[in-house]
Amino acid sequence: MKTICVLHSKIRRCRKCRLCTGRKHAVPGEGPCPAQIMLIGQAPGRSEDKTGRPFIGRAGKFLDEMLTEAAIKRSECFITSAVKCFPPSNRAPKTDEINSCKPYLYEQLKLVRPKGVVLLGNIAQKAVLGTDRTSQRSVVHGTNTSFHRKLGTGNRKPITLSGITYFPTFHPAAGMRFPKIARNIVKDMHKLKMLLKR
Ligand code: SF4
Repeated sequence: MKTICVLHSKIRRCRKCRLCTGRKHAVPGEGPCPAQIMLIGQAPGRSEDKTGRPFIGRAGKFLDEMLTEAAIKRSECFITSAVKCFPPSNRAPKTDEINSCKPYLYEQLKLVRPKGVVLLGNIAQKAVLGTDRTSQRSVVHGTNTSFHRKLGTGNRKPITLSGITYFPTFHPAAGMRFPKIARNIVKDMHKLKMLLKR
């Protein structure tokens, strides 16, 4: 059986998309496996690229504060991102890069077996749930048009599919700029905490 360590060493050597050329380190993710909570961001930033660890820059520190406010320990979460390598100039990952990296994310979901997954921003939502407007298909969960209707733009309602509850929310970088968004991220973290108590 493939373990998370085997998968992560494969990711560290991966050259499937152009992002491998500019990275210092691939950032597979970290945390307990299995874990009840999984957090998925967009892509590594400069600090993450330097160290090979997820969410350790400014947005990461902000995320830690959000977790603390919701009484969630970072050490109990498996943390990763939609693409595992730093996009040049911190740009958003392109669709083909997200698609190349998706199989790793899906393998992580299978191995971590989370009860709740927080999708931090549009890129994570697109990678996991296939909410790209050009596609009505989620590779993880198959075609699910009613799900896409429910999600909608800005709809942060949790969605349960195949026993996993997904919490679409904002990226912490947006929360750093807008206090209202930060409050909404914390609200979503609280919803996750409630789910775990059930
Ligand atoms: S972003 Fe993903 S698919 Fe692209 S090189 Fe890095 S690990 Fe491989």
